[in-house]
Amino acid sequence: MTKSSPKDADDDTWHQFSNAGYSSASVDFDDEQETDIKINSEEEWFDGDDFEFEGKTLDWNSPPCPTPLGISHMIKIGTCNHCLKRVSGKNNMSGEEIRLEAYARDDSLESSFNNDLCPLCENLFDDINNIVERIIEKINNLEYTTIQIGIHLPKDLIQEAHEITSRHGASQSMPLKTSMVLDIQNTINNKLNTDINFVKDRPDIMVLVDGLTLRVDVDVRPIYYYGRYRKLSREIPQTRWPCRACKGRNNGCDSCEGSGLQYIDSVQDLVGEPLRIALDAKDTSFHGMGREDIDVRMLGLGRPFIIEIKKPMGRISEMSNLVKEINKKSDGKVEIDNLIKTERSLIAKIKNSRSDKSYTIRFKISEELEEEFITNSILELSGAIINQETPRRVSHRRADKIRKRRIVDINNIIIESNEVEFSIRAEAGTYIKELVHSDEGRTNPSVSDKLGIDCEILWLDVNEIHDDEENKDN
Ligand SMILES: [Zn+2]
Ligand SMILES: [Zn+2]
Repeated sequence: MTKSSPKDADDDTWHQFSNAGYSSASVDFDDEQETDIKINSEEEWFDGDDFEFEGKTLDWNSPPCPTPLGISHMIKIGTCNHCLKRVSGKNNMSGEEIRLEAYARDDSLESSFNNDLCPLCENLFDDINNIVERIIEKINNLEYTTIQIGIHLPKDLIQEAHEITSRHGASQSMPLKTSMVLDIQNTINNKLNTDINFVKDRPDIMVLVDGLTLRVDVDVRPIYYYGRYRKLSREIPQTRWPCRACKGRNNGCDSCEGSGLQYIDSVQDLVGEPLRIALDAKDTSFHGMGREDIDVRMLGLGRPFIIEIKKPMGRISEMSNLVKEINKKSDGKVEIDNLIKTERSLIAKIKNSRSDKSYTIRFKISEELEEEFITNSILELSGAIINQETPRRVSHRRADKIRKRRIVDINNIIIESNEVEFSIRAEAGTYIKELVHSDEGRTNPSVSDKLGIDCEILWLDVNEIHDDEENKDN
């Protein structure tokens, strides 16, 4: 990875940057006209409002291409063969053929041809082979099925080319960037003798060419997999936790035995490490539909997540063996159901999900009480709206405010001397432990409050995340 590539930019910025190659400042594409160049007809490929021919003063000594005078003018000002083909409106002839035809028509033309630098491309097309060699060198060891090529050209060149083309070029002239990108793509396929699938969106590999310096940056796009995990251990966090002492820097410290981690295992690494290794990737990022505390199990059908694989050098199409391997290596701590390739946009969707969740909680009461009193007191909370202030244990990272949460249902109350257990379904974002022990009155009403005694949490399990029902509603 090269230093100044836009890897630090967020995805959207990079996306805009990468698409710069397709919005070109050149004349409009006349969709009434047929061209011999196979271009996706999506409008975004072309600028729709660049054709400024209308309203300009026509120069009748030099009407636009494809008239012979227009072509002669283009040749006189030094247009190269590549650009001649691009702007002449004679799509079934090569640039050289167009030039020779013009020379045959007007024998003074050849001597008046100024061939310093093509004003439409500054001879950039001469660099195509050079650019393509650089690209091939960088993509050689990568596995991919799709590539997107973007090219960045100096603004003044684009403006200059636009000015000339809109005055003298044919109305269906192909924009400079589009033309260069197509030329680069064809040259790559010819050199590698392949038929790479070049795309305009969501590529495996993004190639960005700087037309000024001929620098080539290759960005391997992340891969995203969707699945659901069950966490059967009360000792592992969902995502990787850096060691509190060393913050994971400098290869760890004594207290983390050089791991850099506070907890050796996490759902992220138990799922992500086999994937990272299989895909020869740099790192992973884990995006869950919410999270549970370290000491809380995630049961039922599991919690939806997306794992992002960063800079994967390899690709795998068949995931089922990898799923088996992940489950085997996790040794009962974590299980996943599946890994389905997905898109980045799904992350926001699962992050914003507001699904109800069902839990079972068990706690100790400070005094033994009548069973009927316990049951009735707890059932008073079933269907109630509670007020929750941000719990003390998280208040250092969350804004302190009171939220209203709905307790949908409470059932299966079990009382065994001074231990009580029940199942509960609650609105997204309800703090269940706090609902029971009240967090010193920060949750109101609470089980502790209703019973009039202290409650000490023994354990909590998430039984189900009701995200499917949410989808049905939509
Ligand atoms: Zn040119
Ligand atoms: Zn450490």
